[in-house]
This record gives sequence, structure tokens and C-alpha cells, in this order.
Amino acid sequence: VTAYWCELAWLGGERAEAGVLAEADGAFLSSVETGVATAPQGTTVLRGLTLPGFCNAHSHAFHRALRGRVQSGHGSFWTWREQMYELADSLGPDSYRALARAVFAEMALAGMTAVGEFHYLHHRPGGSPYEDPNETGRALVQAAAEAGIRITLIDTCYLEGGEGRKPEGAQRRFADRDAEAWTKRVDSLGDLGPHARTGAAIHSVRAVGPAECATVATWTGQRSIPLHAHVSEQPAENEACEAAHGLTPTGVLAAAGALNERFTAVHFTHSSERDRAELGSAGATVCLCPTTERDLGDGVGAARAIADAGASLSLGSDSHAVIDHFVEMSATELDQRLVTGERGLHSSSELLGAATLGGHHSIGWPEAGTIAPGSLCDLVTVSLDGVRLAGAHDALDATVFAGAACDVRSVVAGGQEVVRDGAHLMIDVATELRETIAEVWT
Ligand SMILES: [Zn+2]
Repeated sequence: VTAYWCELAWLGGERAEAGVLAEADGAFLSSVETGVATAPQGTTVLRGLTLPGFCNAHSHAFHRALRGRVQSGHGSFWTWREQMYELADSLGPDSYRALARAVFAEMALAGMTAVGEFHYLHHRPGGSPYEDPNETGRALVQAAAEAGIRITLIDTCYLEGGEGRKPEGAQRRFADRDAEAWTKRVDSLGDLGPHARTGAAIHSVRAVGPAECATVATWTGQRSIPLHAHVSEQPAENEACEAAHGLTPTGVLAAAGALNERFTAVHFTHSSERDRAELGSAGATVCLCPTTERDLGDGVGAARAIADAGASLSLGSDSHAVIDHFVEMSATELDQRLVTGERGLHSSSELLGAATLGGHHSIGWPEAGTIAPGSLCDLVTVSLDGVRLAGAHDALDATVFAGAACDVRSVVAGGQEVVRDGAHLMIDVATELRETIAEVWT
């Protein structure tokens, strides 16, 4: 049994609690006591504000190598995508594993204890499979283990390069022959180890037709695993879908039987009221990725209206323009203020819920995301002594609206210490990022 005494901890309410004693038996919390004024002897002292581990519910690890290369220059989502494809065509399993290890370690430093890796870079350049057709997926699972975080490998079905078009160029690496072949490949992943689970994705309704969406939805239902999809990120995607099928992307997914409490719509930036009602009544989740949506010029998702319709919220750093859930939380609220002219649409507690419990639910780890008995022992401690947070009236509001990944001082993931004094215990993260990114561009 390991005992942690937290100066302040967020246990899910509107305010942080002072003096919280949390005991872990192995990977799980066994007891959580509030109002313990001083640290009992033999406990690990966590000074500052302790939060449950964040979940990065939508990640494409290799996009991290685009940081600082794609932020300037005129263009759009579609021109960015061409730059991303160039990178996608250059990675092999070894360079991908090394890069992902550094990226997942960067996530650990930012307080993320689990990642939903939306994985579509499956095959060799040109599209023929590796000897093990899941070689790149296994590289990602291994990378997460080395970085000390959990992973849901959200293996992504990708069949077409746009409504009815064959995959071209880098897209050939993403594609399986058909939905049936995709199910067989994902089934052959087998057990990935205690830190990893399998999930599934429909890349988008651009890349998977209605009949194949239904095949994927049925297959994931039989296995009771999470199903994600990029949905309505761009107006052009909605227009093409309506022209081809007479339905919005949400409508196509609903008709395919994909919408339920295991489903997560990623982005959902250009959703209609009817789309929101469909997702909400299904009890589905929406994964917002505000820093990427800003970076790509996607638009601002209607997070308040989505939550009011009954959907859960989660957060992802997606293209990794930055890896910082403090920024994703504040952006969720602040970007909507710019659009609506209203303030206070989401409380700090709601935003933290999206970053923690909402995310873990979305990627299939319902036993994580809270500091409570029976929950996985994921403890992220933010220092309140740094210049960004010193003197704050309310620790929770200050942390959500002014905190940053660099304020994270310690991270325990599943009972294992991963970050101490702001440093990763196993990995020199900045060095590995620099070296692995240089390698993929040579
Ligand atoms: Zn994405």
C-alpha cells in the first residue's frame, strides 16, 4: 500500500478539497479521505493541486513531427493535409516507435496518463502489409509502455481516398482492402498487455462508405469496444456527404448503427442541431480538439450545445500543435466566448471532467479519471508556486484557465511514478523529440 497526502485535490466537485489522503493498493486507489490537515508519517507528500490523470482522447502521434513546420504559410485544412501526407509516407516502424515514445513521454510530462491513439498508418509505403500486418500498431503500444502511460490503440478503418475514390499516395499506407479485411487484421492484434486496449475507428465518412460503416459498427458492438470517427470537421466534408448520401456525416453513422454510448465523434465542429440531438440521445461522446481546430482553421465547436443535448465531452490534442490539456480546457470555454459573446458556459469542474473522466470513458478505461476508491491510481500534481499560478484566489479556476503543462510537477500513472519534479523518470524527452524528429525528416 502506498499513501499520498495531497495539499489540495480535485475530487469532482466545484472546489478543490484541502488535505486529501489517498491510499493505493497496487494500481488502484483503495481509500480517499478528506480533511487530513497534515501529512501522516510515511506518506508521499504532493504539494500543490492534485488532479486525476488526464486522458488525451484523440492523438495521431506522428503529427508531432509537423510542429513548427506547418504553422505558417497561407493555406487551409486541405493544404495542411498534403504536408501531413508527405510525413506519413516517410515513417517506418522503427522511426515511428522512437518518435511515438518521445511524444507519449511528452504527454506524460503534461499529466496525461492515457492516450487514445487514432492509428491509421498501417502498411508499407505503397500499401503492401508488413510481415506482421499490425507492426506499426504494436510499435505504438510498445512506445506507450516505455513512456509509462496507458494506450487504447484505436485502429482505424480507411478504405477510400474520398467519396468512391481509390486511395492515392500516402493514403495507400492507411487502407485495408475492405471492411472485412480490416476486422481480420484488428482481430489478429490479440492481447496487447495490461497497459493497452483495442478500440476501433471509422476514419471519416469520406474514407468509409455507408455499408462498410455498418460492418465496422456491428463488429465493434460484438466486442463492446470504443468506436471513434472524425465527424464534421470541415464544411466541405458535410457538403460532399450530403451530395453523395443525402445525409450529414452523423446521419450516415446513425443509419449504420454506429451511434451509442461507446461512440465518440471527434471534432464535430460543424454539427447541426439535429446531429447534436442524435449523438446526445445515443449517449455518445464528442472529442473536442480546440488547439488543432484553431491551428487548422476548422472553426469552433458548439461545446455547450453538445453537452446540453446529452453528449459527454472529452479532449484531444490531435495534431499536437501543442500537447497541453490545460490549454484544451480553457480553449473549449474561451473560443466559444468569442463566438457567442457569453462568458461562463462551462465551469472549471466540467472542463476538468472532459479532460479526465470523459476522456477515459471515451477510450474504454471507465475505471480511470477520478480520485476515488476503486479508480486507477493516476495522480497529477500541479505546482501552485510558479509565476502563472502564484497568488491565485481559487486554485481550480486558476489552474484550468491559466495553468500549463509546464506547471505539472509529478505524475503517478496506475500506481507507478512516471514524472518527478517536472522530469520524466525514464526518458530525456526533449532530447528524444529533437533526435527522432530530425531522423524522420532526413
Ligand atoms: Zn484526428
